[in-house]
Amino acid sequence: MGENAGSSQEQNVLTSTQTVIKQALEKLGYSDEVYQLMKEPLRMMTVRIPVRMDDGSVKIFTGYRAQHNDAIGPTKGGVRFHPDVSETEVKALSIWMSLKAGIVDLPYGGGKGGIVCDPRTMSFPEVERLSRGYVRAISQIVGPTKDIPAPDVQTNSQIMAWMMDEYSRMKEFDSPGFITGKPLVLGGSHGREAATAKGVTISIREAAKRRGIQLEGARIIIQGFGNAGSFLAKFMNDAGANVVGISDVQGGLYDPDGLDIDYLLDRRDSFGTVTNLFKNTLTNQEILEQECDILVPAAIENQITEANADNIQAQIVVEAANGPTTMKATEILHQRGILLVPDVLASSGGVTVSYFEWVQNNQGYYWEEEEVDEKLEKVMTTAFDNVYRVAQMRNVDMRLAAYMVGVRKMAEASRFRGWI
Ligand code: GLU
Repeated sequence: MGENAGSSQEQNVLTSTQTVIKQALEKLGYSDEVYQLMKEPLRMMTVRIPVRMDDGSVKIFTGYRAQHNDAIGPTKGGVRFHPDVSETEVKALSIWMSLKAGIVDLPYGGGKGGIVCDPRTMSFPEVERLSRGYVRAISQIVGPTKDIPAPDVQTNSQIMAWMMDEYSRMKEFDSPGFITGKPLVLGGSHGREAATAKGVTISIREAAKRRGIQLEGARIIIQGFGNAGSFLAKFMNDAGANVVGISDVQGGLYDPDGLDIDYLLDRRDSFGTVTNLFKNTLTNQEILEQECDILVPAAIENQITEANADNIQAQIVVEAANGPTTMKATEILHQRGILLVPDVLASSGGVTVSYFEWVQNNQGYYWEEEEVDEKLEKVMTTAFDNVYRVAQMRNVDMRLAAYMVGVRKMAEASRFRGWI
């Protein structure tokens, strides 16, 4: 799905985030010093990871870990494995994690990691050696009370398990709180795998309510069939919505009468690819522009841009991916009266249940799925209400409102600590 992501676009991801942070801080009356503190991560580590490949050769991979701000607590955020990973992207992603933590009110700052690699072309043992090598390389700056990694694009619970095992071999034997998104048997939480999609589902429901759209029968397009997109398709289908479009890295499927989601989920491979089984597919750009009521970009950055924002037919856009809509496109959608629920709010269900997982690891006492779901429901509806209210009161779009909610506590905590 990388057709729109180039290096200048990556640069954009950071500079546009910085622009919105600046606007948010100005609206809240904070000085430029606060902006200077927040515009970049406090710490950024670049590592080179030698990995013995199956053919006997050694390949050196580049990885990053960014820690944006730890005034409130340890930093927290996923690790992505993707060929387009860059220092700039990881920096921006760590800032978004700080915002998410602020919006859902978690005792964390933001962190993010990434490795430049294509796991689709690697064997299982190669991915395992890479994952373990990454943890060894960043071990000085991470830990259950310092910085807590988690899954992100193309990483999963198996990779979290390898990373946790490597860390616990180096440090203390049992360190489940080092990382979240683990398998259940290794201290994972019920509900974590589906948490991002559950959070998006709640955001869709709340947004639809505000716009007077009945979820039952509403036509939904989901771009991306990875962790968030696939669970979301299922939840929307279960809720009686009409999922008319989906896409994966290879292309998109659209049917105005609705797609057979159970069949597609059944045939999906472990990287979330299914459209390769079909002949008449659309491109990832075309899928965004098809007729629907609710559009959910659930893939990667820079998908809705100045070039296609005018062609979006949905009344509501809910960002399940990080950074799928550019700044200019956000403006266009807002002007066109389309309600955009931003990534830092809509996709914060994942880190929320990661927090629940970490709490359960720390206390050594585990909750049932209903308890996790109930707590997630409460956190997400409160966060949505807060952001929506600020947007209405201050007459700004929901992205700026979300940034205003997201930076406030971090700014206060940094001030109390005497940093600014
Ligand atoms: N990678 C997810 C995100 O971008 C989850 C991070 C976490 O659970 O810490 O929100």
